[in-house]
Amino acid sequence: MVKTLVLGPLCANCHIVTDENGVGFIVDPGANAWKIFPELEGLDIKYVIFTHEHYDHIMAAAEVMEKTGAKLVASRFTAENIHNRDKTLLCWFPGVKDNLPDVDIAVSDGDRLEAGSMTLEFIETPGHCPGGICIKCGDMLFTGDTLFYHCIGRTDFAGGDLETLLSSVREKLFTIEGNVTVYPGHDRTTTLSEERENNPFF
Ligand SMILES: [Zn+2]
Repeated sequence: MVKTLVLGPLCANCHIVTDENGVGFIVDPGANAWKIFPELEGLDIKYVIFTHEHYDHIMAAAEVMEKTGAKLVASRFTAENIHNRDKTLLCWFPGVKDNLPDVDIAVSDGDRLEAGSMTLEFIETPGHCPGGICIKCGDMLFTGDTLFYHCIGRTDFAGGDLETLLSSVREKLFTIEGNVTVYPGHDRTTTLSEERENNPFF
């Protein structure tokens, strides 16, 4: 089951994903921990996962981890750069403190983790920024700012590259078979087949 909250001034999606026993993980707790907490009642959250290192996807992580005891999962690049304000884009907000926790588990392409009865598979998809990953869990795919409904992520931030992003989506995401629902980092859900057929970037 997926519960999506829209958090912070940039309206980033935070996805709370649980199995039939309420065991699960949280993708991108970007802001407003007080909005996340009421949704965690009775759940056993094993992981907080960052799809990438940008501030609008990560800033409530410390509070959520303290409340749940979850471990923090991100790509190796994100793990190495989590306190680099040029990479998280916190450089835009000199007054905002870096309260970010260190990453506990740095994942690479093809790595897997279990949360309850669910298996999570990590797919490195750089392009929007170097540390971008997508998470596949059954027929769900969490794409962060890599792939949106009829759109893709911006590539004009530090480390972004359009060609890299297009080939990440083409080679790593569009090759996934089956009836896959896409849960992006902003905006509405979609499916891989809808994006393969109707995304104007491809
Ligand atoms: Zn981003």
